[in-house]
Amino acid sequence: MTDYTTYMQQSNLIGGDWTGADSGKMIEVTNPATGAVIGTVPNCGADETHRAIAAAAEAFRDWSISDLGFRVQLLQDLHDALLDNQESLALLLTTEQGKPLFEAKGEIAISAGYIRWFAEEIRRAKGEIVPAPQAGRRLMVTRHPVGVVGAITPWNFPSSMLARKLGPALAAGCTVVAKPATATPYSGLAWGKLCEEVGFPAGVVNIVTGSARAIGGAIMESPTVRKVTFTGSTKIGKQLIRQSADTVKKVSMELGGNAPFIVFDDADLDAAVEGAMVAKFRNMGQTCVCTNRFYVQSGIHDAFVARLREATAALVVGNGAEEGVQQGPMIDMDAVEKVEEFIADATSKGAKIVEGGKRHGNGGTYFEPTVVTGATSEMQFATEEIFGPLAAVFRFESEEEAIEAANATEFGLAAYAYTRDVGRVFRLDQGLDYGLIGINAGLITTVEAPFGGLKQSGMGKEGGSQGLDDYLETKYLCVAGL
Ligand code: NAP
Repeated sequence: MTDYTTYMQQSNLIGGDWTGADSGKMIEVTNPATGAVIGTVPNCGADETHRAIAAAAEAFRDWSISDLGFRVQLLQDLHDALLDNQESLALLLTTEQGKPLFEAKGEIAISAGYIRWFAEEIRRAKGEIVPAPQAGRRLMVTRHPVGVVGAITPWNFPSSMLARKLGPALAAGCTVVAKPATATPYSGLAWGKLCEEVGFPAGVVNIVTGSARAIGGAIMESPTVRKVTFTGSTKIGKQLIRQSADTVKKVSMELGGNAPFIVFDDADLDAAVEGAMVAKFRNMGQTCVCTNRFYVQSGIHDAFVARLREATAALVVGNGAEEGVQQGPMIDMDAVEKVEEFIADATSKGAKIVEGGKRHGNGGTYFEPTVVTGATSEMQFATEEIFGPLAAVFRFESEEEAIEAANATEFGLAAYAYTRDVGRVFRLDQGLDYGLIGINAGLITTVEAPFGGLKQSGMGKEGGSQGLDDYLETKYLCVAGL
């Protein structure tokens, strides 16, 4: 039987030592499926974080100039270690986060994929030789690791969000101080244990849990930390961008979304419903690329709603660790109350609940997968991120109207559209202000492609060949007198 505790570290990794908080204080971690406390992690603050930064700076001296082949081999070993322990790591993830086990296994697999991708990409991170305007000179563009990286990650993908940061940072020769989300610290701490096991030198990867404000503050104020990579809400991201000004840090921000999913009259209905289910209900609707607003053209509206409702009603809700479960609990009660608020707001303004609509009979933080129709731009979810299992369906008439409505938000992360009109595909690519666009596909994240938002959804890209850029400084070298 799979044991989820194999990689469940209840201490922090600082400079190669597993330690507790200076205060001795711990934070309880619960399983959202049962409400049971599964363990504790240190409640660290600024002092421990400063020590982690110092350890990372010390380790950077050797790591940044280490043989590329050495770093690549360690990353390949880390990839293998993740896959060798996929079952156990996935069960740990489900136990602290709630998502169904098959999704957690998929997350561990894509985590491994990111590590392998960047182990490969770093071997192609070439510089440039620039034609010199004067004889006797050689001009070169060279690339170098940025330095110590601070990485702050959310609870919804507690493993893969760190993979996208650790992969390029370690490949480039940077060292890392990571702070996982307090709700899901174990999947983050597991990275420390795995890195240690495969032989990363002490101090290259440091993981600190505890007060977000104190740890985040120490990372942001430190002149030693040259780059901060953050995935989380737009609200906290803005705060960190402001804090980065004093030390002029590089920042990359993967922030909130409000994805439109547009179904045109000419769509393949079966494919659209299949894509809608994964784009809406994956991780109980708690992903930054989850559909927030379904825009459905009048001619196909009723048929699409009927099929969406049927598929939603058929979802199996339960403890994600159990076989066959497709929808686990939500992360906490605040998340449940937020979805209730969206539903109350929408129904008070004329929306109709056609499926679900209330807390699930399982109790706790379980919520019924829900579909509402008659959505309008006056409703709260038209502009705010739902982050829960609520599908809001808007009706539209023309392509121009759909594009305009889709763009009417401060966010610009992911957008989806179902159509068989090739000309329209390119008009959508031009017209939709989104960093990721899926045509006839509801799940498009892959290690090979750049992931990142426009507008207030963030800056920088993770994955793809672009995912390395933020971890490398570019220098211009002029050699004269030749
Ligand atoms: P969050 O509240 O912003 O938290 C994210 C991380 O920031 C957590 O580790 C949190 O720590 C930490 N944090 C909170 N306050 C901080 C502060 N003052 N200084 C430094 N760090 C601080 O977001 P969340 O609720 O965990 O995650 C959901 C959000 O993430 C959604 O908006 C979602 O769209 C977004 N997201 C975006 C992407 C993307 O790629 N664009 C991917 C996944 C999620 P604590 O846990 O200790 O509070």
